[in-house]
Amino acid sequence: MTRVAIALGSNLGDRLGNLRAAVAALEEVGVAVVRRSFAWETPPVPADQPPFLNAAVLGETSLPPAPLLAALKGIEHALGRRPGRRWGPRPIDLDILFYGDLHLETPDLTIPHPRIAERAFVLAPLSEILEGPLPVLGTSALHLLERTGLQGARRLCAL
Ligand code: ADP
Ligand code: MG
Repeated sequence: MTRVAIALGSNLGDRLGNLRAAVAALEEVGVAVVRRSFAWETPPVPADQPPFLNAAVLGETSLPPAPLLAALKGIEHALGRRPGRRWGPRPIDLDILFYGDLHLETPDLTIPHPRIAERAFVLAPLSEILEGPLPVLGTSALHLLERTGLQGARRLCAL
């Protein structure tokens, strides 16, 4: 079993319902969720779309990285996501933040996720579920968050 951290985001439809449905679906594809952050409301990047709800979960899985990504894409599709512009509005986005202490760069998958350190909407929920130094990055989410600032993110409610 490998410890994984997964980021969730939604800015279309029932955002909280979408996040909760995605967490339930993770269990079904073989990711046992052991910790979950609160839902955070965050300004959209780019700004010309509705605000997001973001969250992060820690899980244990025996799925290798590529099948895990395929499973996440399957959940996104099942929750109504269809191909659209990059960083555009979506009912659900599921990204692999960490996979154990693996460092991987392939055309389809980069782990750790390359933009963790600059995104408050990832760091804020991540800081609630992973308190020590982050895998590979070696410093804590809270420490990185002190550098970025909250960027307008606010803690909303339990997932
Ligand atoms: P974004 O999450 O950046 O808005 P998408 O969700 O559309 O964009 O993902 C685009 C592609 O990013 C995916 O098809 C996937 O192959 C790739 N990708 C690379 N690294 C990761 C990762 N760590 N987690 C999720 N997707 C990733
Ligand atoms: Mg994504």
